[in-house]
Amino acid sequence: MDARESLRRYLEQRRDLGESELVLDSLSVEEALRLLGATGGGSTPSQRVSHVRPSQTSAAPTPPADTAARPATRAAPAKPTKPATPAAPAAPPAREALTMITEPSEPTTPAPAQLSALVVGGGSRPGGAEPFAQLQSLEEIAATIAGCRRCPLYATAINPVPGTGNPDADFMIVGEAPGANEDAQGVPFVGQAGQLLTKIIEAINLRRDDVFIANVLKHRPPGNRNPEPAEVTACSPYLIRQIELVRPKVLLALGTFAAQTLLETKLTIGKLRGQEHRYNGVPLVVTYHPAALLRNPAWKRPTWEDVQLARRILDRALAAGA
Ligand code: SF4
Repeated sequence: MDARESLRRYLEQRRDLGESELVLDSLSVEEALRLLGATGGGSTPSQRVSHVRPSQTSAAPTPPADTAARPATRAAPAKPTKPATPAAPAAPPAREALTMITEPSEPTTPAPAQLSALVVGGGSRPGGAEPFAQLQSLEEIAATIAGCRRCPLYATAINPVPGTGNPDADFMIVGEAPGANEDAQGVPFVGQAGQLLTKIIEAINLRRDDVFIANVLKHRPPGNRNPEPAEVTACSPYLIRQIELVRPKVLLALGTFAAQTLLETKLTIGKLRGQEHRYNGVPLVVTYHPAALLRNPAWKRPTWEDVQLARRILDRALAAGA
């Protein structure tokens, strides 16, 4: 039996077991794409490549040399049920981790497994969680952020804003950066936009305490200007590590910067919203930032549709016991 036939049969077995993801870390991307050409139902491999993002299993723990940990003043409480995520071994240098996402199980469909998406990620991506793989709790992340000097924003901010909420949340919300109110209080999404976010959360039958909320940037950019690319690169490892530790079942990205950072794309929010994406295997929905909604009420309807989609995905995950 050749490798293609073996892969096809393996995918079918996994599908029949109800699994929807397969991680292959022993093939190069090129080798995997060659194999997928025989299993994808006629479409070309490139049609199934969706996003490139870091592998959660390829972090090499490297202590951050440019941070000086200080006591956290707003650290999230320790997670009572989930074990600390161990630091993973370094990825083989010439290989990339690869995730194939198959269609949901269809008992009445005997056809070979159909691949709906292919997620490829290398362990050496700048801005991955590698610098903070040794941080084993949200408190440790908050303490490290409090002493962070990786970009100049710490110098102009009043407080760090590491994130807040349920450390075991199934639903995690990612925004862009702290504003003036958040900077003053050290808490994300307070003020008018925060109140609107709370209403959005409650509209899908969740409480704010049920979810975990964080931003891409942990210190406020002066005057609420847009984040600089270098600041996003410097700061995003904190967010990536937070996601690894919280392990949500659904991610909701608010606004362009959160969406583009997590999905590693330059596509506009108009093209990204309204559909289910994947971030390292976690379903991700993109919608407008509450601050943008306050300026443009016409976006409330599409936002409502997006959060309903996120809620349906959460319900699906909870029903499946994922
Ligand atoms: Fe560090 Fe992020 Fe603050 Fe910059 S914004 S100093 S990278 S925590």
